Amino acid sequence: MTSHDLIDAHMIAAAHIQTEAGTGEWICACGNTSGQAGFHACHPDGTHTAPLPSSWAGHYICTDCDAVMASDGLIIRTGSTD
Ligand SMILES: [Zn+2]
Repeated sequence: MTSHDLIDAHMIAAAHIQTEAGTGEWICACGNTSGQAGFHACHPDGTHTAPLPSSWAGHYICTDCDAVMASDGLIIRTGSTD
């Protein structure tokens, strides 16, 4: 099946947030982790929201640089580190 190859290529091309070896904890491009400033539940556009299953798709926004990540760590929007 060639469709499987296409899916793999897409996953390689997509940028994901870095994770800490062992714990899998997110490390934002700005250096923020959940143990520091942390991440806030949000909508894909970065609007803060309560993490309720009925109204939240699992996105998080970096409290430091406003980068937005999907629940699997896919970077939806890069932050501003300057
Ligand atoms: Zn950040």
